[in-house]
Amino acid sequence: MTTLKKRLRQRIEAAGPLSIAEFMEAALGDPVSGYYATRDPFGAEGDFTTAPEISQVFGELIGAWCGDVWDRMGRPERFILAELGPGRGTLMADLLRALRGLPEFGRAASIHLVETSPHLRGLQAQALAGYAPVWHERIDDLPDGPLIAIGNEFLDALPIRQFVRMGAVWLERRVGVSPEGDGPEGDGLAFTLTEGQPMQPRSAPSGAVFEECAAAADIASALGRRVARSGGAVLFIDYGYYPHGFGDTLQAVRRHRPTGVLDEPGEADLTAHVDFSAIAEAARAGGARVWGPAGQGEFLSRLGLGLRLEALLRRAASPSQKEDIASGCRRLIDPAEMGTLFKVLAIAGPALPEPAGFSGET
Ligand code: SAH
Repeated sequence: MTTLKKRLRQRIEAAGPLSIAEFMEAALGDPVSGYYATRDPFGAEGDFTTAPEISQVFGELIGAWCGDVWDRMGRPERFILAELGPGRGTLMADLLRALRGLPEFGRAASIHLVETSPHLRGLQAQALAGYAPVWHERIDDLPDGPLIAIGNEFLDALPIRQFVRMGAVWLERRVGVSPEGDGPEGDGLAFTLTEGQPMQPRSAPSGAVFEECAAAADIASALGRRVARSGGAVLFIDYGYYPHGFGDTLQAVRRHRPTGVLDEPGEADLTAHVDFSAIAEAARAGGARVWGPAGQGEFLSRLGLGLRLEALLRRAASPSQKEDIASGCRRLIDPAEMGTLFKVLAIAGPALPEPAGFSGET
């Protein structure tokens, strides 16, 4: 049993079952044994791969999007360029490189990273040496002013709660200790249903699972208020659903394979699909306009992925390099891969004209 699992069992024995949000917070964020606190989870050697690690084209096109938004904002002389959950810093590095042709953008931007993991902060410092980024624990700590922000696979890491419809009532799914103890299947912890949690009544078939991510809604609402007040736009890219739906999307991944959610807290990545309707509603309630969600494939294609791919292929040194570049781009846009499950949503100030890559306001 991992030490974190042991500690969680003791906590449950002392104070009762944890909400799934409390379990996720500990498994991902525990300062000693949390998943993000201790490792670099990305890439072929790690547990999962993200779009910026698959192809440089991803960050370059997001860079073009940011440059265009800055232009549509009226080219403010100073603005905050922020990334939420920057991982290895690859996306921000590709984005800034792609915008070297627009030096006024680089001069106007101050770079801010919202990142809780000290380990990943170290990798980000290496990737962004020369850009003098400033780190923050929380979005609320970002300095005031016009903002362009991006978050790729950030919202899916935020803690959710789950509610299960049983007959006419909603019960909360929580994490308790398993009566069988800690066996080879890692069954020291077990899901349990408890009563008495506040939950909006909605009609749903018995057995339906409803997920709620208060942290994501709070962030969307704070960012919505902020861009409504000071101008700018925030781009979220993630896997998720739209509109609202029911279903258990909590998943654990280790070394590119699914594993039991409760098996190895701190050792596996835990995520849930993003409810883009909830994000859109929270941002709009904060006074912002919301664009999308668009499928990642259509979004990147509208931003010119095809042309960028051709340019890279012309410059590729060898057939195998060509194949790597082409297959990376395919993975990003193919509906059978990341093209439609991954969605892109922009939260923007009311004065901003429609940002590139979308086909209408939500
Ligand atoms: N955007 C990167 C990494 C995605 S993984 C990429 O596309 O490769 C999620 C990132 O969010 C990690 O950097 C993780 O440390 C960070 N993170 C997770 N929860 C966070 C929180 N509550 N506040 C700030 N950063 C968080």
